[in-house]
Amino acid sequence: MSDNKIPYKIYLTEDEMPSSWYNLRADMKNKPAPLLNPGTHQPLTAEELSHVFCDELVKQELDDTTAYIEIPSEIREFYKMYRPSPLVRAYCLEEKLQTPAKIYYKFEGNNTSGSHKLNSAIAQAYYAKKQGLKGVTTETGAGQWGTALSMACSYFGLDCKVYMVKVSYEQKPFRREVMRTYGASVVPSPSDTTGVGRKILAEHPGTNGSLGCAISEAVEVASKDPGYRYVLGSVLNQVLLHQSVIGLETKAALDKYGIKPDIIIGCAGGGSNLGGLIAPFMGEKLKGEADYRIIAVEPASCPSFTRGTFAYDFCDTGMICPLAKMYTLGSSFMPSPNHAGGLRFHGMSSTLSQLYHDGLMEARSVDQVSVFEAAEQFARVEGILPAPESSHAIRAAIDEALKCKETGEAKTIVFGLTGTGYFDLYAYQKFNDGLMSDEIPTDEMIAASVAKLPRI
Ligand SMILES: *Cc1c(COP(=O)(O)O)cnc(C)c1O
Repeated sequence: MSDNKIPYKIYLTEDEMPSSWYNLRADMKNKPAPLLNPGTHQPLTAEELSHVFCDELVKQELDDTTAYIEIPSEIREFYKMYRPSPLVRAYCLEEKLQTPAKIYYKFEGNNTSGSHKLNSAIAQAYYAKKQGLKGVTTETGAGQWGTALSMACSYFGLDCKVYMVKVSYEQKPFRREVMRTYGASVVPSPSDTTGVGRKILAEHPGTNGSLGCAISEAVEVASKDPGYRYVLGSVLNQVLLHQSVIGLETKAALDKYGIKPDIIIGCAGGGSNLGGLIAPFMGEKLKGEADYRIIAVEPASCPSFTRGTFAYDFCDTGMICPLAKMYTLGSSFMPSPNHAGGLRFHGMSSTLSQLYHDGLMEARSVDQVSVFEAAEQFARVEGILPAPESSHAIRAAIDEALKCKETGEAKTIVFGLTGTGYFDLYAYQKFNDGLMSDEIPTDEMIAASVAKLPRI
């Protein structure tokens, strides 16, 4: 089909939305390594996991053989409020760059939470409700996950307790208010509502908090009250499964016009949006049906893939969560403050880690100033103010398009635009004032935290 027939936005109809999630693990020859009990170092059983997570989600977490898992109709109905999301042909960006490349982006920012995280939040809330639970607990750093979960819980009438890293609670009052509007209770962490919070407050009075500490508090509350379970917004296999809706829609939209991407790009924090976006494409690659270049983009200040070690590590700084085998900078690694809060995680999805280890995808890191330059360029021509996290993918997409300009190749590039940046204007202000910098860890810093990895 000739190029000028492809619209700016390729939408699917509601009937064309996927009715099942795709579980990429089913088609992996080398499966991701199992989660281990932090005490015994043995693979965690469904029974053990069910004390922390909802039963159906435990099943999904451990299932690496079922390729398609039906999306319950209640979740599909909710998805219809904001999905299918558009696949946009970035004609204006192509024009601006004067590149022969064809650029598409899948836009996930079209809901109040402003990111893709709602795709998994609604699934997790649904299974909690179905199990008859009273509510769920979670942590949030930058606030996108907490916001998405609050929306999902209010839809199903579940109680939602969010432990929000204290410094974000104070610096991002607007996100906090969105969560409260949806009925969540938002507690600055560390708090005096948990044993671990009280201990940390006693040892470090005046601390700003950390994601690891907020996780520990949320897990403690969930494990002490039988009516509650803990939920997590990234990293886990179940979250990648739910996010496969992004990739399935992208593939269906491309197939409608007979478009075959050459390069697929996504930002990588814990790996959920990237894992979801690439799922059906990677599936084809694993089965030898097609080939794609797949690129994960991470911040230079928190380079888990590009400078981390593939090993078992704790998912939290408090070292109470299960051990996952992943590319990690070490759970004691403290990334420098970075405006892409959603990418400041020391580890990475174990599914993506295995694929990267097996040479099936690439990774690169980019520095913060170049990320905001790409964000500005994109915003000015495409009209969307991108989230700092998403702008990592924009950076790589622009760089690949500029390479095409040099070689004259008309490659097709697809990237994930995971969200909007309306709550990140402090970061944009820093950039606009020329005050943005980046702190890249030294080899010594990474070696020191990697040296503390648990010995398995
Ligand atoms: C949380 C977040 C990310 C990173 O999380 P992943 O699990 O790696 O996808 C990226 N973009 C936005 C907008 C986010 O909110």
